[in-house]
Amino acid sequence: MEETSTATRLCLDCGNPIRAGRKDKKFCDDMCRTNYNNNKGTSSELSLTDYIKKIQTILEKNRKILDDCLSKAVEMEKIEARKPTGEKSKEQSQNHASKAMENKTLNDQNISM
Ligand SMILES: [Zn+2]
Repeated sequence: MEETSTATRLCLDCGNPIRAGRKDKKFCDDMCRTNYNNNKGTSSELSLTDYIKKIQTILEKNRKILDDCLSKAVEMEKIEARKPTGEKSKEQSQNHASKAMENKTLNDQNISM
């Protein structure tokens, strides 16, 4: 996080210039820092916990999408595989579908390990 090299830094909470302190100081005092941390929800900067939660939600969504894609791909594969023969009854294709489900479950187990 490189900041502009202007001499005066502004407090992230109250916006007043920070007069003293180290280069990386972001608040004029502890009160401002506490206040800022309490109001983090309104800021564009997320707290670490919120950030992690956000990432977890995204990962869960991605996982669901991938799961969906995988099951679709397995189904497609089965459909493609039985296309050339074309002599199977409906009963057999139902068996095929349940086998596809079994394969999917196995694949899922492999992935989670
Ligand atoms: Zn301040």
